[in-house]
Amino acid sequence: MVTSDSPKIIVLGIDGLEYNLVEEWRLKNIMQKAHCKLNLSDYKVVVTPPIWGSMLTGKIDDEIMEIWIKHAEIMGDGVHVKRKWWTNLGKILPTKVNFWFYNHLFEKSIGGDPFSRTANYVLEKNEPNVFQFFEKSWTNGIPGYGRNVSTHVEKKLTEQAISGKSTPFRKHILNFYKKDKIQLFSALDKNEFDFIFWYTTFLDHIGHIDMGKRVTLMMKHYLEINELVGAVAERYPDSLLYIISDHGMEQMGPKSRWGLHSNHAFFSSNTGETIEKPFQLYNLISKHKSG
Ligand SMILES: [Zn+2]
Repeated sequence: MVTSDSPKIIVLGIDGLEYNLVEEWRLKNIMQKAHCKLNLSDYKVVVTPPIWGSMLTGKIDDEIMEIWIKHAEIMGDGVHVKRKWWTNLGKILPTKVNFWFYNHLFEKSIGGDPFSRTANYVLEKNEPNVFQFFEKSWTNGIPGYGRNVSTHVEKKLTEQAISGKSTPFRKHILNFYKKDKIQLFSALDKNEFDFIFWYTTFLDHIGHIDMGKRVTLMMKHYLEINELVGAVAERYPDSLLYIISDHGMEQMGPKSRWGLHSNHAFFSSNTGETIEKPFQLYNLISKHKSG
């Protein structure tokens, strides 16, 4: 091993990684030297893009959050938002009709698809971000920084899953994860980056459809992530390794197979450092910037 070629910092961003499951299954590689639960009470809605964006910039963007509040009020998702009367339609109408209402009426009323509008906001708004601390950084795309986690493909597959056919979505999620994993290792193989921020939507997407089947379906995915972390840690013992999630996942109801975002997130480090809130990742990384 040529340790002089180790990246200074590696961040593994695992969307939807649930603190309670890491604890329950004692996933040692993911837990690292120190691990902790992150508090999300500063985020008015617990949705993916603004939380990742905040990790990169060190602050919660009110304008971006506003877009998500409007979306959450209509869709009734997000942990900290009061549902509007029309979300009760969801209890009456079949899901497909709900999607139709959302796509044709409500989405336009809130200014368009919030996922595509906020997928690259950190760069579009030219916000100072963690990548600027390093000369040679690499990422495979993060929500808020060049990655849309819900394109028309995922939306179609979600609709299909809700109407009973979840195999195509499951396949899509696994394929996507495989591609992201290949990208991570080919970036590491180049031995030229000082800062690597890898991201995967894997546990968020699969958690939405399979969280109710923790032991039969979810556990193997957590073991896979645990193995991935182990492989990276073993290869780069001299790099600072941080693992972070934007939120965890919890079962929608006692008998449901579906999953929703939980109201806390996960963090761990191989240095013993901890943070309390996702946006504090920015400060932590700034302490270790090169030069
Ligand atoms: Zn997420």
